[in-house]
Amino acid sequence: MSVPIDLHCHSTMSDGLLSPEDLVAHAASKGVRVLALTDHDEVSGLARAHAAAEQHGIALINGVEISVTWKKRTLHVVGLRVDVENSALLMAFQQVREAREVRAREIADGLAKAGIAGAYEGAKEIAGNSVMTRSHFAQFMVKHGHAKNIKTVFKKYMVKGKPGYVNHEWMSLEQALQLIRDSGGVAVLAHPGRYDLGFVNMHLLLHEFRNLGGAAIEVVTGSHQPPQYEQFAKLAHRFDLKASQGSDYHGPGLSFMEMGRLPALPSGCVPVWQDWPEASQLQ
Ligand code: AMP
Ligand code: MN
Ligand code: MN
Ligand code: MN
Repeated sequence: MSVPIDLHCHSTMSDGLLSPEDLVAHAASKGVRVLALTDHDEVSGLARAHAAAEQHGIALINGVEISVTWKKRTLHVVGLRVDVENSALLMAFQQVREAREVRAREIADGLAKAGIAGAYEGAKEIAGNSVMTRSHFAQFMVKHGHAKNIKTVFKKYMVKGKPGYVNHEWMSLEQALQLIRDSGGVAVLAHPGRYDLGFVNMHLLLHEFRNLGGAAIEVVTGSHQPPQYEQFAKLAHRFDLKASQGSDYHGPGLSFMEMGRLPALPSGCVPVWQDWPEASQLQ
């Protein structure tokens, strides 16, 4: 049976389309009972999300999705139950935010060379005060007719080898796990099936992640195809890691999966929420 828990989603504080309040309301309307808001490198939406969660009678878990560079690849690590007042965490995110600004200028320079002017200003207008992400550039490009949808923009402009791609150095896996651990959180490797790592590197990654104190991997996520649920359930078991689930919802039209539609974790998985008081009623 599926459990109404969603431990990965985004608000307007990063690249989601819904405000923290609207996102929580949406989750509640779809039957979610325990929700983690996990904005990219950003925790400033959590206070607002907590207030909304109280109104809607759902449990809100502190979360964040941290970008990491591992073996020249970008990986995402979700930190759950972090202390959002932890100064090392806040300082690190401030640095990431500044680096994302520099990167955004570089992305815009790349796009300008490909004949697309005004991308920084355009993406900034969409991002407002949020951290600048490739999603904001993608939305700008669709709005101005450079591609028919977000998926096509990414393929044509925003991935490795394309004019709007910048080889950015994020924090190390070790640093991200230390930040999560030191702020009292648990580290979850986000959507491992998206990294295209191959057998050897995936095993190396999971081994290293476990050794650095990682707790779980996402098994059921909007970023996995159904056959990958079993594949990563097996790997979680092999590496003695718990399993997590989350929609990775970014808002209407910007998501692979709607909220409240997550299938159950495959049998044999140990849920990352197993000891959480918020989830005790739901299992
Ligand atoms: P950034 O952290 O700035 O590199 O932006 C990454 C975000 O872009 C991801 O979290 C997704 O929301 C979005 N994204 C990445 N690849 C794609 C894709 N192929 N299609 C749609 N959105 C994508
Ligand atoms: Mn995103
Ligand atoms: Mn991600
Ligand atoms: Mn995400």
